[in-house]
Amino acid sequence: MTAESILAKLVSFPVLGGQSNLSIINYIKDYIESFNIVTTLVSNKQGNKASLHCRIGPAIDGGVILSGHTDVVPVKGQEWSTNPFELIDKGDGKLYGRGSCDMKGFIACCLASLPDMVQADLKKPVYFAFSYDEEIGCLAGHELARSIKIHYRETPKYAIIGEPSLMQPIVGQKGIYILETYVNGSAGHSSRIKEEVSAIHEAMRLMLWLEEKMNRLIEEGRIDNRFHPAHSSIHIGLVNGGIAPNVIADKAHFFWDLRTIPMDRTETILEEFETFCRQREQELKSKFEHFKIKTVENHPPVVHLDTKETDDIVGLIKRISGNSSLSTVAYGAEAGQFAAEGFQSVICGPGSIKQAHRADEFIDKKELHKGVQMIHKLIAELSSNNFR
Ligand SMILES: [Zn+2]
Repeated sequence: MTAESILAKLVSFPVLGGQSNLSIINYIKDYIESFNIVTTLVSNKQGNKASLHCRIGPAIDGGVILSGHTDVVPVKGQEWSTNPFELIDKGDGKLYGRGSCDMKGFIACCLASLPDMVQADLKKPVYFAFSYDEEIGCLAGHELARSIKIHYRETPKYAIIGEPSLMQPIVGQKGIYILETYVNGSAGHSSRIKEEVSAIHEAMRLMLWLEEKMNRLIEEGRIDNRFHPAHSSIHIGLVNGGIAPNVIADKAHFFWDLRTIPMDRTETILEEFETFCRQREQELKSKFEHFKIKTVENHPPVVHLDTKETDDIVGLIKRISGNSSLSTVAYGAEAGQFAAEGFQSVICGPGSIKQAHRADEFIDKKELHKGVQMIHKLIAELSSNNFR
């Protein structure tokens, strides 16, 4: 089967992030197993979702993981000119459909190259690693990467995450963490503001602390020019609290997100914030003994990617992608999760991120072809005795 025909099949599974992906993962599993390759499913607790991994080639250390996610973003509210879950060739050199670009295109390239991998005299193995729920915050990537590390006696060395990058190697990605802070104050008439503890006033103090923390990081020169913006950002995006202008608010709540460059640690920023919160609680206890600030995770952290230019994978990806300029991205992806398990990781795949997540998403046929070419070059590399 060609990459295009496999892509048509993959696009026909309307699996959104958060939904069961068993239909598409079982299709992929059956396809891979038809080549006598053993697959492993990594299921969630409920058993309605699963990632898949498999090894093609010799059971020896080294080799490359090719990774992609099987879920896509919703189409609701978008003006599609064709059925989003049918791959449409309009004759303009593009293939339209939800996920064609992000990122079933890359999975199709992997699967279409499987017969060649099986035929090749691979000296180092290729692994496939296909996840679910990436689009709702990379929920399965970490477990998948860990499963590969634990499941096989031998250890792969590299991971290529085929997110759409127009085949440009991406070596950096910020860490992302979304949090919620709840403030519990005392109620009362607004005139008593000096005697009571307004949850809104205290929440404002916390929000300003966060903004100042970001500014302090910048002033301290914590800058990484590979990223745009080059600093860690802290942002409050949603605030709730209060019932009327003349009533002191006993509750306030805000959502915030942290996007950290690799040199900054979300944990450290959070610890400092918590210290400030405990300090405020102590200071106000005498006014209102139940004054409480609680910060909870709204979304599990997505770890950063920080692949060094000197890492061996950078040379490899430059050779097989045909692109030597390196880049970074601001969106979350599973690459950091593979890197955290010890695999040198990069993002590089066919299609443009500009086409992702929108109506009439498409992948250029030329891009799909480039994706297949990259994997063929990889097969050639892995078949060489010199591959390290
Ligand atoms: Zn994606």
